[in-house]
Amino acid sequence: PPIDASLTSLANLHRYYTDAGGKDAMLLVHDGQWGKEMIDMLARYGKGLPDRLIPYEMHSVGRVGHDLLAGAVTLGFARVFVLMDPRKSAEYASLHQQTELAEALLAGTGVDPENRFVLLEETDPDAVEQTLWDNNKTARFTPAPFVAMGSPRAVTRMGLRGLAKANNAEAEIIPLPTGAPYGRVEIDTDNCTICLSCVGACPAGALQDNPDAPQLLFREDACLQCGICVATCPEKVISLAPQFNLSDKAMTTELVIEDEPFHCTSCGKPFGTTKSIENVIAKLSGHSMFQAEGRTDMLKMCEDCRVEAMFGQSEKMADVGERPKPRTTDDYLN
Ligand code: SF4
Ligand code: SF4
Repeated sequence: PPIDASLTSLANLHRYYTDAGGKDAMLLVHDGQWGKEMIDMLARYGKGLPDRLIPYEMHSVGRVGHDLLAGAVTLGFARVFVLMDPRKSAEYASLHQQTELAEALLAGTGVDPENRFVLLEETDPDAVEQTLWDNNKTARFTPAPFVAMGSPRAVTRMGLRGLAKANNAEAEIIPLPTGAPYGRVEIDTDNCTICLSCVGACPAGALQDNPDAPQLLFREDACLQCGICVATCPEKVISLAPQFNLSDKAMTTELVIEDEPFHCTSCGKPFGTTKSIENVIAKLSGHSMFQAEGRTDMLKMCEDCRVEAMFGQSEKMADVGERPKPRTTDDYLN
């Protein structure tokens, strides 16, 4: 199910539990096969589950992400155990990363992540039981129940902002590990030519242009840290900065750099930015094709005027004056 539906189910489970007088709820995420069988086995041959451990079945626990882990804690679950099927280890490659990310996010909201998440990949039911009953302590925190709505990123943002506020987190920026899907791009504006190649390449709309002016804009909460802009930038002036910005500023579009439009020296039409044209001229002025006098002037013209000017030059080159008369045998005889 989508994350908002999952978190709504978890919010209901937590509410039923607390309404019935339960305290310090913990969550056990499991699948319908391995996990369910393991829980049945513990009930039949062992101590069963601790009273405060609430099981939650998913189609596959490999789909558990930082959004669900951090969201569950935000709703009030003190700990989250994930029961993994050891035969499907390959499916869980990202689960460890997701857990690290959830821990970093919680730490930034003022919630101590120690012992908060437990990934259980055990075949031995006794070992599973021992871990579920380990009684490891977790630090107290103030939950921030919320109604999960919208995209996974919007849901995560909503939950974390509430959790940070409830726990008096001071910093608005949470540093995240490399590869995290949140953050900003740092752009060396001294060397950015506002060519806007990165805008066309950005799949998330985090980098934007302004159709009315040469401007590069950025919206942090949309950035996936995919790195496509880094690979696309011809000037190599973009770098990634993984972080989670809790402030409202992350949800606004900020101006990164702007420039004056460059006007065609022939017709006056704006056709590029001053920086990008200067950059092209600087790069091509050493090229053998642009050594003749006035050749770089063409680079200051819009496409139409440049074509016109080039045709004018070709005509000049073709203009070799009056052609000599063809000489025939009669010319020599007369
Ligand atoms: S691709 Fe690079 S040079 Fe071009 S606008 Fe983006 S950051 Fe600037
Ligand atoms: S890292 Fe990806 S999402 Fe972020 S600005 Fe660059 S291209 Fe866009």
